[in-house]
Amino acid sequence: MMEIFETLESEVRGYIRSFPVVFDHAEGACLYDEAGRRYIDFFSGAGALNYGHNHPLMKARLIDYIERNGITHGLDLATRAKAEFLETFRDVILKPRGLDYRVQFPGPTGTNAVEAALKLARKVTGREKVISFTNAFHGMTLGALSVTGNAFKRGGAGVALTLSDTMPFYGYFGEDTDTIEYMDRFLSDNGSGVDLPAAVIVETIQAEGGINVADMDWLRRLTEVCKRYDMLLIVDDIQAGCGRAGSFFSFEEAGIVPDIVCLSKSLSGYGLPMAVTLIRPEYDQWDAGEHNGTFRGNNPAFVTATAALEFWKNDDFEAQIAARSETLREALEGLAEAYPKDFSGVRGRGLMLGLVCTREGLAKQLSQAAFKRGLIHETAGPDDEVAKFMPPLTIETADLDTGIEILQAAARDVLGAPQMRLDEAV
Ligand SMILES: *Cc1c(COP(=O)(O)O)cnc(C)c1O
Repeated sequence: MMEIFETLESEVRGYIRSFPVVFDHAEGACLYDEAGRRYIDFFSGAGALNYGHNHPLMKARLIDYIERNGITHGLDLATRAKAEFLETFRDVILKPRGLDYRVQFPGPTGTNAVEAALKLARKVTGREKVISFTNAFHGMTLGALSVTGNAFKRGGAGVALTLSDTMPFYGYFGEDTDTIEYMDRFLSDNGSGVDLPAAVIVETIQAEGGINVADMDWLRRLTEVCKRYDMLLIVDDIQAGCGRAGSFFSFEEAGIVPDIVCLSKSLSGYGLPMAVTLIRPEYDQWDAGEHNGTFRGNNPAFVTATAALEFWKNDDFEAQIAARSETLREALEGLAEAYPKDFSGVRGRGLMLGLVCTREGLAKQLSQAAFKRGLIHETAGPDDEVAKFMPPLTIETADLDTGIEILQAAARDVLGAPQMRLDEAV
């Protein structure tokens, strides 16, 4: 059945090449191919499936909604499903965190949420440039691509990507170089050649860029620099948000309040397309319909998104994510200790963790060996040098343990016997 993809689907297809089987159904942290073979999912739709596949609560609400002929397509009309999402989002997410944001519904993808943020920042400040960081990933449309670091992805644009300046992310020059001071100098110096920008766009953890974690103090100082030069701070929480980094927003631990926040991937909770751009009220300076999109009102996604917020009504879920994170981190650190020549360490927060490989191609080999044994995980970083692990936040401990065992076996397949026994290391 793979043949139809090879003969008819565009060469642009990507993940299918890493995981070349035909998937048929999925439940929780498990995917099944057409032959009924099970794969443990440490990929989670690149972060779009934080609550696993086909979560029963969301599925029940969705089926119910469809059965009663609830609105499916609603543009930006008022619907009951949308009202319920907004009320729940305000009461469960915004209010308890003391956050005051207006909610914009752009087209239902991450890159749309980013485009809206960039446009609005330019409109509000009257400035054109936007600062982004080395190894950033913000999406594939031209605006979002212009603030994305990856040379291969940028090359796909076919036109000049303009009106952005790149600054070094936290740790880009190693731990001893303060990259906030570096950026501050460019902004304060009249000879630097860097125009004052409308905004700075940042991921608190660069997911595609190699699981690079920004230090909390770095984020706080970035916020101060933004204030000092009247630039808006845009946090792209599309992948690190919705619990992936351990709390609903990835920036909570830093105690900062961004001017604009982009959410998408796991916002609907069910893998349905949905995105929001959160805007501090004073910056909500859009004219009616100035940014729009046909599929802004994907109401089935609002229904499952509202159901997903059940997880955030108390602190239990955060505690569970922390426990799962600890288990996975220990296992990855065990591997790094067992193969010190091959792995240089573990990066990440929450359930977005990476095992850093010391040579090119190893992360890919590991991923392929794991796939053969029934585990799906991706790679990240500019040279795919990081093996990336993102199980569903809801993963059962038994599935997590099985996934870890498969990974350890895959490491043995690729690297041979550990220099240190795995059970000693873990
Ligand atoms: C996936 C992602 C995007 C783009 O989202 P799409 O839905 O693919 O357009 C933007 N920013 C980050 C951090 C992402 O992970």
